[in-house]
Amino acid sequence: MKRVCILRLGHRPFRDKRVTTHVGLAARAFGADGMYLAADDPGVAGSLRDVTARWGGDFFVEDGISWKTCVRSWKERGGTVVHLTMYGLPLGKVIGEIRGKEQILVVVGAEKVPGEMYGLADYNVSVTSQPHSEVSGTAVFLDHLFEGAELDRTYPDAELRIEPSRDGKRTVP
Ligand code: SAM
Repeated sequence: MKRVCILRLGHRPFRDKRVTTHVGLAARAFGADGMYLAADDPGVAGSLRDVTARWGGDFFVEDGISWKTCVRSWKERGGTVVHLTMYGLPLGKVIGEIRGKEQILVVVGAEKVPGEMYGLADYNVSVTSQPHSEVSGTAVFLDHLFEGAELDRTYPDAELRIEPSRDGKRTVP
């Protein structure tokens, strides 16, 4: 079964709470199975778990992770490591090959990514060769990986579900 997880690098607990939470929210909503956070931030991990408890599914969050150990053990287990960076190969050129892999770890950074990451990655992939953000990079990458199928995903055991509406805000129950 395909498994796709995110590794968030470079999170600074005093500055990046919101962006890292949004990386996790985008990862969950666009079909990833979970997120490893290479920092100790129980607040971010807790708020993402809270969203999963209310909105369903089994998206996991593990904080306090060593990024290098995470990347190395993913590779040792035969998985593929994809590092999103504006310096990488264009998404459209490599996504077909990546789609064929079963276990995919998608690495996203913050301000500075350690140089070593570029060598450890199986693929350094750019989502355009322009600077934007870890949130947009995650969302666009996953959407291309799943070819839009994630848009129709359902989330089991949800306490809350949206009843799509043309003219208002409806949730069930
Ligand atoms: N100098 C960084 C870089 O190498 O992409 C930009 C830092 S950006 C604030 C934080 C993260 O957003 C990056 O580590 C990368 O994961 C993601 N990102 C930003 N622009 C991207 C792009 N065009 N393609 C893929 N990922 C991107």
